[in-house]
Amino acid sequence: MLFKNITILDENIQVKENMYIGITNDKIDYIGKEEPKKKYDEIYDGSGKALMSGFFNSHAHTPMTLMRGYGENMALQEWLEQRIFPFEDKLYGKAVYYGTLLGIAESLKFGIVSTTDMYYFCDDMVKAVIESGVKNNIGRGITNFTDKDIYDLDSFHETKELYNGYNNAENGRIKIDVSLHAEYTSNPKTVKQLAEYMKEIGAGMHVHVSETKFEHEECKKRHGLTPVQYLNSLGLFDTRTTAAHCIWVEDEDVRILADKGVTVASCPVSNMKLASGVCNIPLLLSKGVNVAIGTDSVASNNSLNFIEEIKFFAIANKEKRMNPTLVTPKEAICAATISGAKGQGRNDTGKLAVGLKADLIVLDLMQPNMRPIHNLTNNIVYSASGNDIVMTMVDGKVLYKNGEYTTIDIEKVIFETEKDTNNILQKLK
Ligand SMILES: [Zn+2]
Repeated sequence: MLFKNITILDENIQVKENMYIGITNDKIDYIGKEEPKKKYDEIYDGSGKALMSGFFNSHAHTPMTLMRGYGENMALQEWLEQRIFPFEDKLYGKAVYYGTLLGIAESLKFGIVSTTDMYYFCDDMVKAVIESGVKNNIGRGITNFTDKDIYDLDSFHETKELYNGYNNAENGRIKIDVSLHAEYTSNPKTVKQLAEYMKEIGAGMHVHVSETKFEHEECKKRHGLTPVQYLNSLGLFDTRTTAAHCIWVEDEDVRILADKGVTVASCPVSNMKLASGVCNIPLLLSKGVNVAIGTDSVASNNSLNFIEEIKFFAIANKEKRMNPTLVTPKEAICAATISGAKGQGRNDTGKLAVGLKADLIVLDLMQPNMRPIHNLTNNIVYSASGNDIVMTMVDGKVLYKNGEYTTIDIEKVIFETEKDTNNILQKLK
């Protein structure tokens, strides 16, 4: 496909107008002002539109779409114990498969090309990812409330089978990460053994860190160390790691995160809604930490509207620290794209450059909320709506265009998720 007359955000997040972008197979093979000599099978007239890298959702629990709006205005513990855990207890594979597809459809609508996920029934998630054509770093969340070795845990064996069966499958679209749920749902032996396993196979890690003040302070009481210091002391950050939230991290923690190259996945909407706090993005960036953006689950968000997430990411610290100069639009776009791809171990995507994968989105600039355009980056971060995204392409394939899906039967997915949700609610009565 050849995009012509289109405005782009280039690899340095600079705006360029009237450009040609050529896509052959799964890669970008031309970017320029001049029309390329090569012939492309399809021409896309990009007048009034903008092309940029797709978004990388760096922390999610995609199948939890089934619990969207199920429990609201509750304190975290009450919400988990009265709503989420009982519902999850009744989940089954088919429900997770359709819940994942619903989440993927919503992700594509909002420009997300790749997601870092933590959940269970991962075989069913893998199936949904393969069929839909998106990218995903899938991790089977591991908890351990016993003194068992990890080798005696079903969740560990599921991780191992997933890794052996699907890591780098589908031309690298699928990556299998090892996923420790959190410090407070495991013990030192589990963390240490998982860290050793990861180092042995070279897998990435995905873990929740310092989401609430309570969690952070309890860890200090238990181990005499913050969650970052504790997990690091056991080797958990020795391979590519995504640490979700990191709201309550301290100065020494920030130094460790930067030192170890850990990606912090900040989830501003979920954090604000659950009143967990605001991650100190300016501090993390100033110390050289790779900062990305996540939605967390739609049970606590309640959408995968990444344009909204980017805006909250950009403005939360302004309010919290009473300084409107903090977190620039460029920093927000960078976190949503390049830094997210890096956190997922995907060095072949996340920006527009020749030779990289064509994981792209097209935005409609002829919407009233997008005019006039003094600065396109400012408009994308502060004025755009998720509905301005008119195309999402992954590995050179158009998966979403003008409200239509090319790989997902959305009516069937909506019908099946309704059926499965009602089925689960029935079992809870
Ligand atoms: Zn989470």
